[in-house]
Amino acid sequence: MTEKDSQIKFNSSDTVGVRVGHERTVFGEHSEPIFSTSSYVFPNSEEAAMRFSGEREGDIYSRYTNPTIRIFEQRISALECGERAVATSSGMAAILSTCMALLSAGDHVVCSRDVFGTTTSLFNRYLTKFGIDITFVSLIDIDQWKESITRSTKMFFLETPSNPLCEVADISLLSTLAHKNNILLVVDNCFCTPALQTPLKLGADIVTHSATKYLDGQGRCVGGAVVGSESHMNEILAFLRTCGPAMSPFNAWVFLKGLETLNLRMERHSASGYKVACWLRDRLEIDAVHYTGLETHVGHLLAKRQQKNYGGVLSFELKGGKAEAWQFIDAVQMLSRTANFGDAKSTIIHPATTTHSRLSKEEKLKCGIKDNLIRLSIGLEDVEDIIHDLKLGFASLV
Ligand SMILES: *Cc1c(COP(=O)(O)O)cnc(C)c1O
Repeated sequence: MTEKDSQIKFNSSDTVGVRVGHERTVFGEHSEPIFSTSSYVFPNSEEAAMRFSGEREGDIYSRYTNPTIRIFEQRISALECGERAVATSSGMAAILSTCMALLSAGDHVVCSRDVFGTTTSLFNRYLTKFGIDITFVSLIDIDQWKESITRSTKMFFLETPSNPLCEVADISLLSTLAHKNNILLVVDNCFCTPALQTPLKLGADIVTHSATKYLDGQGRCVGGAVVGSESHMNEILAFLRTCGPAMSPFNAWVFLKGLETLNLRMERHSASGYKVACWLRDRLEIDAVHYTGLETHVGHLLAKRQQKNYGGVLSFELKGGKAEAWQFIDAVQMLSRTANFGDAKSTIIHPATTTHSRLSKEEKLKCGIKDNLIRLSIGLEDVEDIIHDLKLGFASLV
């Protein structure tokens, strides 16, 4: 090892995203190397024994440590202002690992209602099997959070802004409530990424990520991460070591390349998201536009306070119902009809019949998922080309 960017303190997250974590090897490589190896060779038996006993640092097996994954962990941890990160095989593995490591049978979790659909299933279908109780509440109604607390409540879990309606939770307020009651606050930060929001600085204990979305940013790999204190991450790493949902070194390398451009990309996603939201707001064919960047949005001031910008995901309600929404979506030519978001390519989807189709009619109503709702993830194409494509959607309605 000849040079350690990781030991230099950087003032700006722009620099952190590009530099942190890489210790150049004897070959002097400029880009981070991919260590595609499952295990590591010990120079002698004593060293092997020391590593296994934990007396000496060093890699043993890539289910729990790998140099390429370590660079990614150090960089995402620095960006989120955490003490340490653990990389996982997917965003769901990040949430699962957090719950398995920090919860036990008999514990109770309070979760915001409109989290990622698979997160809801994880709590409802699997964690309940192991005796963990779950209560879903409105993301923005602090009284519901307060009233749901029982003697067994161990964790608050939320996403802010929510998907696809962009409701905003007050992270500081919820962290105060949580900590007063000895509850951990876990925030899924996929939507904003550390480029726009750092929940740990606002009082959250743990941040989870699906690296699959904006951290990659180009729709190439599935992965996840958990960030927080040294002691929490030790417990989560212990789960990973035993149960195995580890990230692959190649994916870690792709995510590292993603982090290098994260701030730049989020700036562009946000600028274009804002332009599209303003353009949509003025159309007569529309009932509502949900985007935290619009001053008319209920969560705007809160988002302005706790986020650096407003991101690229927005949704809108067309006048009409499912037929009009489908007609609009099927008429666009460039936007990709896919449920993914956070990609360089703009995407369009009908939540009521796809991402939220498993909800009952009543549940959809409760979450505000109407039949006329369309979600957009604004990518990195020229915003005029995006608007031109959306015009095809509107033209199809007449
Ligand atoms: C996609 C997503 C997840 C799950 O991540 P995977 O990488 O697909 O497992 C969790 N939370 C949010 C907010 C997501 O968008």
